[in-house]
Amino acid sequence: MVSDVAIVGGGVAGAALGARLAGAGLGVVIAEREARFRDRVRGEGIHPWGVREAARLGLLPALGDAGAQELPLWQPYEDRVPAEPYRWADDDPDGVAEWSVGHPALQEASLACAERRGARVLRPAQVVGYRRSDGSVLTIEHQAGPVEIRARLVVGADGRRSVARRWIGAETERDPVHHAVGGCLFAGAAVDPERAHDATFPGGRALLFPQRGDLARAYLIVTDAEGKRIGRDGAAGFRAALAARFPDGALHGAEARGPAAFFPNADVWSSRLAGAGVVLVGDAAGANDPSLGQGLSLAFWDARVLGDLLGAERDWELATRAFTEARARVFDTVRQHARWTGSLVVDEGPEADARRDRVARARETDPGAGGFASIIARGPEGLVADEDARRRFFGEDRAA
Ligand SMILES: Cc1cc2nc3c(=O)[nH]c(=O)nc-3n(C[C@H](O)[C@H](O)[C@H](O)COP(=O)(O)OP(=O)(O)OC[C@H]3O[C@@H](n4cnc5c(N)ncnc54)[C@H](O)[C@@H]3O)c2cc1C
Repeated sequence: MVSDVAIVGGGVAGAALGARLAGAGLGVVIAEREARFRDRVRGEGIHPWGVREAARLGLLPALGDAGAQELPLWQPYEDRVPAEPYRWADDDPDGVAEWSVGHPALQEASLACAERRGARVLRPAQVVGYRRSDGSVLTIEHQAGPVEIRARLVVGADGRRSVARRWIGAETERDPVHHAVGGCLFAGAAVDPERAHDATFPGGRALLFPQRGDLARAYLIVTDAEGKRIGRDGAAGFRAALAARFPDGALHGAEARGPAAFFPNADVWSSRLAGAGVVLVGDAAGANDPSLGQGLSLAFWDARVLGDLLGAERDWELATRAFTEARARVFDTVRQHARWTGSLVVDEGPEADARRDRVARARETDPGAGGFASIIARGPEGLVADEDARRRFFGEDRAA
């Protein structure tokens, strides 16, 4: 089989890129090893900048097919008491809000969209080998037997544990673990379905993203030790920990509808993003700390930026180089921002309290913090997470 582009992995990153490239008339093959997607506790909140990226890819109908819904309000809670809600439309001229969607449904809908636009989807099909020989050649184990695909470009969209990294001689790099992030899907939580619910407490944060059909995806951001403690009791432990953070009764009738799982928060990325006829996207290129929920937005950004470059540039080596340089900059920004935020959300003690107080004071006169305070709405492009930005983020640039 011969194609312009062969994509390893039909998760959101691979499917979104496949849809973009097939829509531009390129020959695209996507190999996805799972016959059916299931709940693996992944991203289900899409930040406004990611929704905008999905719109630029023409993927909003696919989000609709997946049952995605807008959450126009962000509802904070302090000590289990609701505080003033934040309305995205008040700050954002185009009024784009946070969206919420079941991850497996989003994967299915994105892959179906790629197929409708002309991509060939092989599934279940596990990529087991790669070699260079008159282009890039993938060896695939498919139900119909072994298949080889020869392509001008191979895209590694095979997730956080990417094997495609090895094909380009890259190392997997990771930050030290700072805290844990867990998730579980519930039905029947008694919360306003038009708001994202965000409870802060000493040592962490709890989030609930309502979805269609009375469902809500819950996340807990806690210390590593607390994550292990809660995780020992599975979904029941998760529900109890969540109930203790939201107003009385909010979780009273809630029942788990999927597994509960905790993950280390640490960013994981590839030391190189391209080489030998291969380019990496999505978590394979770099998986940001899930506590910040930027992964889906990054996947859409990757698909849009790489797709535009491959469509416009005849020399695909130049195109992939331009993409990898931009991707490395954007990833560094979200990575540093996640590290700064993690210390504000999870760290405890007098020093951490003083840091939070200083940040709160700084935001009174500098609410945007140079763009970092609105990264979730406007995205990381154009932001540079250098020492000046860090000092401004923490309010260290002003007199005590
Ligand atoms: C706990 C948690 C919470 C999160 N919350 C959010 C959130 O709220 N918002 C957000 O935006 N992001 C969130 N994320 C991150 C988000 O889920 C990921 O960034 C995103 O799903 C990455 O998509 P991907 O397509 O790059 O990778 P994946 O989803 O991992 O897809 C990779 C695909 O490749 C396939 N594959 C792998 N190897 C092969 C092979 N050899 N052959 C064929 N197929 C292969 C896999 O089956 C899979 O389908 C969260 C992550 C976690 C862990």
